[in-house]
Amino acid sequence: MIIVPLGVASATPTATRHLSSVALWREGSIYLFDCGENTQMRMLQAGLKRSKIDYIFISHFDVDHYSGLIGLLSTLQLQRREVPITLVGPEGLSEYVEFNMKFAEIDLNYEIHYKEINTDFKEEKVVDEEDFYVEARPLKHTTFCIGYRFQEKDKPGKVDAEKAESMGVTEDAQYKALKAGEDITLEDGTVVESSDIVGHPRPGDSFAYVTDTRYCPNAVKLAMNTNILYHEATFSEGLEDKAAETGHSTAADAARVATESQTKLLVISHFSARYTNPFVLLREARKDFFPTWLATELRPIYTDPAHEKGIVQAKVYLKEIDDDKNKKSSRGKRSGDKQKRFRKRKSYKSRDSGGERKRTRRSNEDDKYNRRSRDTGSRRDSEKRKDRDNDNNEKKPKHITPRTPFDDFNRF
Ligand SMILES: [Zn+2]
Repeated sequence: MIIVPLGVASATPTATRHLSSVALWREGSIYLFDCGENTQMRMLQAGLKRSKIDYIFISHFDVDHYSGLIGLLSTLQLQRREVPITLVGPEGLSEYVEFNMKFAEIDLNYEIHYKEINTDFKEEKVVDEEDFYVEARPLKHTTFCIGYRFQEKDKPGKVDAEKAESMGVTEDAQYKALKAGEDITLEDGTVVESSDIVGHPRPGDSFAYVTDTRYCPNAVKLAMNTNILYHEATFSEGLEDKAAETGHSTAADAARVATESQTKLLVISHFSARYTNPFVLLREARKDFFPTWLATELRPIYTDPAHEKGIVQAKVYLKEIDDDKNKKSSRGKRSGDKQKRFRKRKSYKSRDSGGERKRTRRSNEDDKYNRRSRDTGSRRDSEKRKDRDNDNNEKKPKHITPRTPFDDFNRF
């Protein structure tokens, strides 16, 4: 399971943060949780194919959580999608989408299946597929808001092939039967029991999406024993009143849910625009629950890095955490670089002063030196300098996401 945050801002986007959305990649399919403005562009930048979306889950009808939906659906239409898509969200979702499609006179090529959730629901399995299900529970916001838990069903235990062979199992059908939990009888009459060959079932991956809520027991239930809890942390300490008033969580609230639910990893998101540096929130959350990360847009989080790394690769430059480490380890080299740069600047300066000197000499030699031509000369010089500076700027890679200097992303 790969989790890719696509937007980590709260109600208002900032220069570096987009509106709420997070993608879950699993076995080639994508499940979107919320769809703020810019979601479809962020997917492109994250290296996620929009055509692979199977489900979109909307938490609630605050505009920052669904404003990208119509744009995304019409892009799918332009891409000539034919496979159906399922939208899950509060009741009214189909009315909203259908109105917009009618308004824009779009006759969809593909089917939209709706799963609408009534405002008075307590808990519900909103999706139940062969190998995973999604559970929903109401949260505590100023409007009706839903939290989700994506749960893979337990995988069958591993078959000990060597042991099976030594016991005389040879055919594929026999392995299949053993894997399915059936005991088999071999030709010579020996009975091979499934429990001897097949290990314990392996628990499936799990992910909880809890956003726009005050602390509530339902959040804990959704997140119980998950691998990843993706929780909002809009405010820092000192703003508890504001959080309660607007129906949001502080970083400490997120950490409390994580502690009570015993999740393996807490990822905080939905940062208020007042924090140019969300590390304040990370620090607070880590005080109570250490395995916490900041959701960083476009940076994937893996539950099985050994097999999943490299599957989803961002199409834009992401500053690698390891860059910093490498620099530290090769300090000598770095100072060499510095010197080089310094030398360059020096030569550029001396060239400049050389020009100046020349001009002074010339004006000394000839009092009637034309001032006008001197002026244009120096202007040309400054223009050249500007061009050179521009060239230097263009060579630097553009940083799309802010730096995250201290998380070890190799861990998950
Ligand atoms: Zn929000």
